[in-house]
Amino acid sequence: MTVERLPIKPKRTKKAACPICGSPAGQSHEPFCSRRCKEIDLGRWFSGSYAIPAVEPPDGAELEELIEAAETARDVDDPD
Ligand SMILES: [Zn+2]
Repeated sequence: MTVERLPIKPKRTKKAACPICGSPAGQSHEPFCSRRCKEIDLGRWFSGSYAIPAVEPPDGAELEELIEAAETARDVDDPD
C-alpha cells in the first residue's frame, strides 16, 4: 500500500517591512531586514523598553502578614 502525499504548496509569503527600519524583510531574518535590525529589536527588549510592568512581590514581613491573614480568614470561614 502506497501512501500518496499531497504536493506541499509553498506558502505564499508576504514581504513584510522591517519593523526597525522599514526595509523589505530579509528571508533569513524575518520579520527584520537584516541581522542588525534583529539585534536592535532584541536590544530593545533587553533594555526594557518593551517590558511589561511587573507587580513587585511583597517582602518577607508582608508575605507573613498575608499568610497569617489568609489563615485567620480560613479559620473564620471554617464551619467547625
Ligand atoms: Zn531593518
